[in-house]
Amino acid sequence: MACAFCGLESMDGTYARIAALDVCEECRTSGVFHHLRERGYEAQNRVWVSRSGDIKKQYQRITIRLPVDTGIRLRCVRERWYHDLTRLFRRELEVGDPLFDEYIYVAKGSSADVATLLANEGVQSAILLVGVQGTFTLTRSLLEAHFASTVGASPEERQARVLEVAGAALHIVRWHEEREGSA
Ligand SMILES: [Zn+2]
Repeated sequence: MACAFCGLESMDGTYARIAALDVCEECRTSGVFHHLRERGYEAQNRVWVSRSGDIKKQYQRITIRLPVDTGIRLRCVRERWYHDLTRLFRRELEVGDPLFDEYIYVAKGSSADVATLLANEGVQSAILLVGVQGTFTLTRSLLEAHFASTVGASPEERQARVLEVAGAALHIVRWHEEREGSA
């Protein structure tokens, strides 16, 4: 077994399960972006705080440029007042996972492609995590997760988000390569 990010065997033989991937302790704690960059991804993680009146909000934006063009546009937001729209899109996508019932998708691309991408466990994991407080978008080769919170996330929580989104990036590229291979 090898870590999904550094490709090495874990020193102590244990792995964390993140975004349906096996991740070594070194990558889990010290970050994975340098491993992504070695493989042709561009990756950024930005955190900032802004104040509007009495309300302070912490933002985090994780941006990953994939080394492939998926041709897909997908935007996932947690459902709030979009109830009817969700029904509409769900009927179109037929993802069929009850966990996804609360989410809204605005997707462009072949609906069969979008459905198989959304059925991917690692992609779902990232969307569900991001969806609680933000948005998850894939625009061809650009993957972006945006969080906003009035409470603020701890450094550990923010690092966990980075790992989930980075994991989703690996899954999307693998999914794309399999699709190309079978075409
Ligand atoms: Zn590793």
